[in-house]
Amino acid sequence: MAQTLSTLAYLVASVLFIMALRGLSNPETSRQGNLFGMVGMGIAVVATLLKPGMGAGGIAIVLLGLAIGGTIGTVLAQRIQMTSLPQLVAAFHSLVGMAAVFVAAAAFYAPESFGIGVPGNIKGASLVEMSLGLAIGAITFSGSVIAFAKLDGRMSGAPIIFKGQHMLNAALGALLLVLVIAFVATGSPVLFWLIALLSFALGFLLIIPIGGADMPVVVSMLNSYSGWAAAGIGFTIGNLLLIVTGALVGASGAILSYIMCKGMNRSIINVLLGGFGSDSGAAAGPGAGNADRAPVKAGSPEDAAYIMKNAQKIIIVPGYGMAVAQAQQVVREMADLLKKEGAEISYAIHPVAGRMPGHMNVLLAEANVPYDEVHELEEINAEFAEADVAYVIGANDVTNPAAKTDKTSAIYGMPILDVERAKTVFFVKRGMSSGYAGVENELFFRPNTMMLFGDAKKVTQQIVQSLQK
Ligand code: NDP
Repeated sequence: MAQTLSTLAYLVASVLFIMALRGLSNPETSRQGNLFGMVGMGIAVVATLLKPGMGAGGIAIVLLGLAIGGTIGTVLAQRIQMTSLPQLVAAFHSLVGMAAVFVAAAAFYAPESFGIGVPGNIKGASLVEMSLGLAIGAITFSGSVIAFAKLDGRMSGAPIIFKGQHMLNAALGALLLVLVIAFVATGSPVLFWLIALLSFALGFLLIIPIGGADMPVVVSMLNSYSGWAAAGIGFTIGNLLLIVTGALVGASGAILSYIMCKGMNRSIINVLLGGFGSDSGAAAGPGAGNADRAPVKAGSPEDAAYIMKNAQKIIIVPGYGMAVAQAQQVVREMADLLKKEGAEISYAIHPVAGRMPGHMNVLLAEANVPYDEVHELEEINAEFAEADVAYVIGANDVTNPAAKTDKTSAIYGMPILDVERAKTVFFVKRGMSSGYAGVENELFFRPNTMMLFGDAKKVTQQIVQSLQK
């Protein structure tokens, strides 16, 4: 009876997780999606605690783990800045990977606790599942640690490339396969740890060649890997819910990576093999090559307010700097005032704007920007040609035409927002520095560009004040 109830609870939790993912696919239903996810996880935890055979000791250990992990998670979530979320996510992925390694080791050394055999005589199928969970978990761990270090600025975001890198990765991948087969055949502890070591090295090698602008795809790929690692471990410990949840995370992460690859015009195979972004040449440093450029034209917030007051069609292009400045609220206030002046306002969202997928959508939703004004790149790109103003606030790489013209650029091939086709382009940023990919943006020097130097929030506030006069 207890077993049936627990299976039923797991089923309900699985359905809630699927509904959560469905909800999260649209900004309007995303809050509801989160709620489904939380309820599903609550049911899953209670059902696990009430599982037959848990015993008081087992429940106490799980509760202790929940208390420690829950406290750390709550403190981190309260302290973390919105702009640092991507590195937090990368750090969390590394923990999932490490947990998979630990569970695989626990199952290997105490198989009787998991009902998969006795030490030295573990079922073949369990050895396969265990080694897959171990390998994917270890790759996820070291790969995520490198992603964290790159995103957090603790190591350079530039690709680390050396000769024969692809060959080395391919050879190590083949060796890993051989080790897994040998481990399944022999159950040897030495092979278990060799698989772990080699996978740690592979995770490291797969992520170091990834260059600046390509990091978003890697973060979502590692998310997917962490799901598959959890699913592998679910098989080892015979936990249906972990298998389902892991597969959901793995599959949705893979789909997101695919969508982002399409958005960045990159090949998914390249990402999987870790060669991604390494074909392009070195990124130009800030200010590089601008010797014979026209001087930049800097304007004041009052100038911008005057031009926008007389504009019919304005497209706002938010980027990472808007998140840093937390300018979303004041941007909406500006848009409301301009609408009163009779302007048509839309927002253009690039798939990798900001520092995490959906970053800009979250910020705009927080500021209650109507969803029907927010458009994805493909929907809105053609409209820049008819726009009077493109108000680019804290965005840089996602507007850089080098992606279309400069084959040696690190962002070459990435589709960009064609802001330069608007009659006037405002760039709100603090100085002339380049974006995340480290590539200079020649749009700053175009005759139809006006730079509005300053913090995104302050500049926009001053525009709002001018509009109110
Ligand atoms: P960028 O990183 O290209 O540019 C952001 C700009 O914001 C900078 O040039 C900076 O210029 C400006 N800025 C920073 N702080 C402020 C501030 N307080 N006020 C005003 N401006 C500010 O951002 P984009 O959104 O255009 O592009 C995102 C980049 O990040 C892409 O290269 C993408 O690949 C990468 N990335 C995206 C991830 C994702 O999942 N979305 C994850 C990881 C990386 P200045 O210093 O002069 O003010």
